[in-house]
Amino acid sequence: MPAASSEPAVEGWFATDDSGATHLIGATCPQCATYVFPPRANNCPNPACDSDVLEQVPLSRRGKVWSYTENRYAPPPPYPATDPFEPFAIAAVKLADEGLIVLGKVVEGTLAADLKVGMEMELTTMVLFTDAEGVERITHAWRIA
Ligand SMILES: [Zn+2]
Repeated sequence: MPAASSEPAVEGWFATDDSGATHLIGATCPQCATYVFPPRANNCPNPACDSDVLEQVPLSRRGKVWSYTENRYAPPPPYPATDPFEPFAIAAVKLADEGLIVLGKVVEGTLAADLKVGMEMELTTMVLFTDAEGVERITHAWRIA
């Protein structure tokens, strides 16, 4: 067996520093300070702003639960699902500094019954699926802080 390796499921959405702390990568408008996630290089979403440049920035690692739900059914192909399917929670977390709401899976072992609106959450990563080459594809995820 070759050594297991891992890659982001989507390139450029998060980064992990030397201490192992993961943060999301967003973008902000230098003219009106609006934030976006996932990051992009242009097209400020503020209808009152005419800036066409967004700058990449690290986003808060913490936030509060704004809403949440639990997925109890396996998604249809081509979306990856565990077999047998295990229900998982999804949280919409309002970032501490930016006020931006970022949707993400909640780590294994935490389901909707464990979550409450306003609860403090912290960013982490988890394996989303293992691809055909045996590479673990990693995604950002929320855990209770
Ligand atoms: Zn703007």
